[in-house]
Amino acid sequence: MELKLPVRALVEFLLRNGNIDSRFSSVDRALLGSRIHRKLQKAAGKHYKAEVSLSITQQLNDVTYTVFGRADGIITESAEVCIDEIKTIEIPLETLTSETYPVHWAQAMCYGHILCCNEKISQLTLQLTYYQIDTDEVKQFRRQFTAAALADFFVDLLQQYEKWALLTLSWQATRNASLQQLSFPFSGYRRGQREFAIAVYRCIAEQQRLFACAPTGTGKTMSTLFPALKAMGENYGEKIFYLTAKTITRQAAQEAIGILASTMPASSPLQLKSIVLTAKDKICCMQERNCTPEACPRAEGYFSRINDALYTILQNNTVFDRALIEAYAQQYCLCPYELSLDLSTWCDCIICDYNYLFDPVVHLMRFFEGRGGDYTFLIDEAHNLVERSREMYSAILDKNAFFELRKQMGKEHKKLYAALGKINTAFIALRHLCGSKKQYTQPKLPQELDTPLRDFIRYAEEWLNDNKGNALEQEMLSLYFNTKFYMRIADNYKENYTTLIYLSGSNVIVKLFCLDPCTFLDDSLKLGNAAVVFSATLNPLDYYRDLLGGRENTKILNIESPFCTANLGVYVADTISTKYINREQSCADIVKMLYTFISKRQGNYIAYFPSYAYMRLIYEAFCGAFPDIQVLLQESEMDELARETFLNRFQADTTHTLLGFCVLGGIYGEGIDLAGERLIGCAIIGVGLPQIGSERDVIRDYFNEKNGYGFDFAYRYPGMNKVLQAAGRVIRTEQDKGAVLLIDDRFTTSAYQQLFPKHWQQFKTIKNCSQLEQELDAFWQT
Ligand code: SF4
Repeated sequence: MELKLPVRALVEFLLRNGNIDSRFSSVDRALLGSRIHRKLQKAAGKHYKAEVSLSITQQLNDVTYTVFGRADGIITESAEVCIDEIKTIEIPLETLTSETYPVHWAQAMCYGHILCCNEKISQLTLQLTYYQIDTDEVKQFRRQFTAAALADFFVDLLQQYEKWALLTLSWQATRNASLQQLSFPFSGYRRGQREFAIAVYRCIAEQQRLFACAPTGTGKTMSTLFPALKAMGENYGEKIFYLTAKTITRQAAQEAIGILASTMPASSPLQLKSIVLTAKDKICCMQERNCTPEACPRAEGYFSRINDALYTILQNNTVFDRALIEAYAQQYCLCPYELSLDLSTWCDCIICDYNYLFDPVVHLMRFFEGRGGDYTFLIDEAHNLVERSREMYSAILDKNAFFELRKQMGKEHKKLYAALGKINTAFIALRHLCGSKKQYTQPKLPQELDTPLRDFIRYAEEWLNDNKGNALEQEMLSLYFNTKFYMRIADNYKENYTTLIYLSGSNVIVKLFCLDPCTFLDDSLKLGNAAVVFSATLNPLDYYRDLLGGRENTKILNIESPFCTANLGVYVADTISTKYINREQSCADIVKMLYTFISKRQGNYIAYFPSYAYMRLIYEAFCGAFPDIQVLLQESEMDELARETFLNRFQADTTHTLLGFCVLGGIYGEGIDLAGERLIGCAIIGVGLPQIGSERDVIRDYFNEKNGYGFDFAYRYPGMNKVLQAAGRVIRTEQDKGAVLLIDDRFTTSAYQQLFPKHWQQFKTIKNCSQLEQELDAFWQT
C-alpha cells in the first residue's frame, strides 16, 4: 500500500496541540510569507540554493510512504551542509526561543533525513530563520544532527502516523470499489442529462474546465455529482468540492448523495465520506463568538483533544451533516466549526459555500494554501459567482470607524493614537478629492492611506497583545482585521481595480473595487485538476467564461431544456415601456395586462419588478383596480418566518387566484421551487437592468475598454440573468405547465432576443390585452 504525504501536513497533524486562538491568525500570512521568503533567499548569497524539492520513499510495515516537500534553502559551504527553514512570525522576537515551535524543528528534521538519505550525508546542520513581519528583524537558531538521529526521528513519526495511513489507504480502496458499483439512480436520463454527465466525466478525466448552461429540469446536481463520483472511483480526482452560493443548493447536493446511497444494496452500502460545511457564525455554539481559550472552553485545548476524537468519529460515520457535527463537538468539547474543518480533511466530497475556495480570507488553508491537489470542483448556480467574487476581492474602509475608535481609546497608547489621527487626516484629504460631488473615482490606490494604515496594524498588534480582555478589544480586532484585509487587496491592486471614494454625511468611505475577478478565480481553479462551472442561466456562456476564470480553450456546453416546450407559453408585451421616465404613464396598461394574464386560468402567479418602489406603484394601482383579487407583497425586510409564510400561500389546491408581487433578483427571484400548480405563471416587468450607479458605470467603462461590451457586462447580462431566473420558477417538473409574460418594449430588440434561451424561441408578441386573452385561451386549452 502506497501513501503520498507532504512533510508539512505530516508534522503539523501529529504535533499539533494547545488552543484555538483567533487573535493573531493572520489573514495574509501565506502571501506575505512567500514574499519574505524570496527576499531572504535572495539576500543569502551564492552558497544558498533556494526552494529545493525533496522526496523520499520509505517502507514501514505494510505501508510504503512517499514523503515530500520543499526546503526553503540548502546552504553548502566547504564540506558543511545546512538546511534552512524560514518562518514569518508576529510575536516579538525577544519572546522567541529555540523551543517555541517544536513543529518547525520537526519539519526541518524531516528535510534533513531526506537529504541525508538521498545525498549519503552522515551529519548536517538545521537552521530555523524567523522573520518578524512588523520589525523586519531576523533571529536564527542552529542545531546539528547525525543522519542516524534524524532517521530515528523520521521512523518514529511514521509509526505515529501508521494508524492514520491505514485508515486512509483502506478507505480509498473501499471507497473506489464502492464507487465502481455505483449506477445512475433513476430509470432513465432526461433529455440533455446524459450528454451533460458524459461531458462532466470527460472534463474530470482530462483535467479540464467545463462551463455549462443546464436549464431547470436537467437534474444538474445529479448530472455533475454522479459522473464526478464515477471518475473518483477510477482514480480521477481524490476529492470533490461541491461549491454553492446558497444553503438550499447545498441541501440538494446532500440529498443527491442520499439518493445515490439509497440505490446501493444493503449488503454493500455506498462507501463515501461526505460533509456539509456550515458557516462559523451559524454553527458556533457560544452566545458570543470569541475564539480564544479564555472565552471559549471549546477553543481551550482543542488541538490536544482533536486527533483522538477524530479517529473515533471517522471510524463510525460517513455522512457528516450539521446535526452530527454538533453532537460530536459537544461530546468531545470541541469547537464545532474547527471540527467540521478537521473532518473535511478526511472526506471525499465536501459541500460548501463558494468562499471556502475563492475567498482570500475564508478559503480552506488546509487544501488551498500552496499548490492545491487532485481536486474536482463542481461550482453550482455559478451565475451568482460574478457578484460574489467582486465582493470577495473588494475591500472597504471608512473614516468613522477609525475616528470612533480613536475617540474611545484616548491617548494612553500614544503611537496608536497618532496613527489613528493620521488615518483621519488621510481620509479628509480624500474627501477633498470629491469636491462638491458626493463621490470620486480614481484608477489607482489612495496612497495617502498606505503608511498610516501600516502603522495602525503594527501598533494595534502591540495594543492587542497588552490589552487582552479590554472593553475595546473586539472593536480593535474587527478594525485590525478589516485593515489587514484592505492592505492585502491593496497589495494585489492592478488594472482590474478602481478606487471609489464616497461621502456620507461626515463619513468618507473608500472602496478598492474589483471590476474583473477573472484572474483571481482562475488562480483558485488552478488549485484543482478539473472544474465544472454550471447554472440553469449561464447565458451567454462566453460572458461567464470570460469573467469566471475560463480560458479561451475552455469547453462550453449549452444544454436544451428537457421539458416539452409546448408546456411553457412565453408572451412578450412589447408595446409597453417600463423605462423610468415612462413608469407613471404605463402603469395603467401594466395593471390591465397583469389582470388579463392571471384571469384566464385560476391559480397562483407572481409578478416581478426591478425595484421595490416600482413594485409598490403597480401593486397599489392593481389593488385599486381589482380589489377582489388576492395579492401578496414582498417586503424589503422579512425574517425567516415571514418568508416561509409568504411561500406557503402558494398552494397547489387553491380555490382562488393569487398574485404575488416580488422583486427581481430578490429572495423569491431564484432558488424557490414552487412545482406543479403551486405556480402557474409569472410576469416580468422590465428587463431587470441593475440600478444605474457609479459602480455599474465603472464596470461598463472598464469592459468597454477591454472588449467593447461595457453595457452588456455591466447592465444587460446581469439584468437578463435575473429575468431568466425569475421565469425559471414556472416550470419545475415534466408535468408542469405555465406561462411567462415579459412586459417591456426592449425584449423584442435583437440585443435581448439573442439572450432568449432556445426553449423560448416559440414566444408570441403581444400588442394588447385582447390578443393576450386569445393566446392564453389557446394555450390553457391545449
Ligand atoms: S465554539 Fe464558537 S467561540 Fe468557540 S472556538 Fe468555536 S467558533 Fe469560536
